[in-house]
Amino acid sequence: MIKRRISNKVFIGKTAIGGDASISVQSMTKTDTRDAKATINQIKELEECGCDIIRCAVPDMEAAKALKTIKKGIKIPLIADIHFDYRLALEALDSGVDGLRLNPGNITEKDKVALVVKAAKERQVPIRIGVNFGSLPLDLDTSLSLPKKMVEAAMRHVRILEALDFNLIKISLKAFDVPTTVEAYRLMAKKVVYPLHIGITESGTPRQGMIRSSVGIGILLNEGLGDTLRVSLTGHPREEVYAGFEILKSLNLREHGPSLVSCPTCGRTEVDVVSLAGAVEAYLSKLKKPLKVAIMGCIVNGPGEAKDADIGVACGKGKAVLFKKGLQMRTVAEADILNELIKEIEGMVG
Ligand code: SF4
Repeated sequence: MIKRRISNKVFIGKTAIGGDASISVQSMTKTDTRDAKATINQIKELEECGCDIIRCAVPDMEAAKALKTIKKGIKIPLIADIHFDYRLALEALDSGVDGLRLNPGNITEKDKVALVVKAAKERQVPIRIGVNFGSLPLDLDTSLSLPKKMVEAAMRHVRILEALDFNLIKISLKAFDVPTTVEAYRLMAKKVVYPLHIGITESGTPRQGMIRSSVGIGILLNEGLGDTLRVSLTGHPREEVYAGFEILKSLNLREHGPSLVSCPTCGRTEVDVVSLAGAVEAYLSKLKKPLKVAIMGCIVNGPGEAKDADIGVACGKGKAVLFKKGLQMRTVAEADILNELIKEIEGMVG
């Protein structure tokens, strides 16, 4: 059982982050935010995948103004990602966003920072301070380790917000390097009670990025660190949401749709388990209810895993034994395994 770090709770719209709230999965749109229709369509697709919170880049005033339309067209909370320009933050807040990702120290005029913070406070909109390894300030103490530099960079922004009596804060400290990122979060967790948004930044295409992110995010989660997460991938954001939930599921931190247990196959396999598992996975991807399904290649580990799942098969030569809720149901011919499984699952999920 993972013991989570105690953190403050903030709300992004109706979604709680920190405290005893479930760890939420975020993603970021990859459309042009100024194209509200395309952005709404992408967010709707992510809502279908279960995405809890969405963030949109706001590079200019046209994008900031489009947030109002986007907000009206979606159900999940919306965060505006803003750099440097306080006017974009004010416009985003006027557009009704639920959160800001903004580093206050990057806005040079202090009175403008105060304006943004005042507007965020009036609306109870949290601000995420997001420090990335690639954009650290140049005047940091050079004797500090990289993780310490990241923490100090974040603390500069934290101090600005706290001085303005603002504490609806979340913090992220992301690098491509997993040990650096992990250490930065460990250090930060000892310094503040604010919720942590965790992730490995610029982790690459889905093939590499899911692995790097799973290792980094997994280490942190296992240490009880992390209140919300994003898996950053060079790919469609639905892959980010999918990976985020799989990481949480693997640590028993959240339930989300079905899970597939399938054996790796070996010299004992006598049916085409690879094709069968692929077809079952494609079918399961459309379901929302938690359900454990096992596809096992032989009688060595097969019956045990299949019995432990909600439903499963242990295959043999040209056939399989079907188990449901721990009970052996019947033997089915190889050609019928997929259809028999689907028929049973449909009965179970309603
Ligand atoms: Fe091989 Fe059987 Fe294990 Fe599958 S379950 S990997 S077929 S021993």
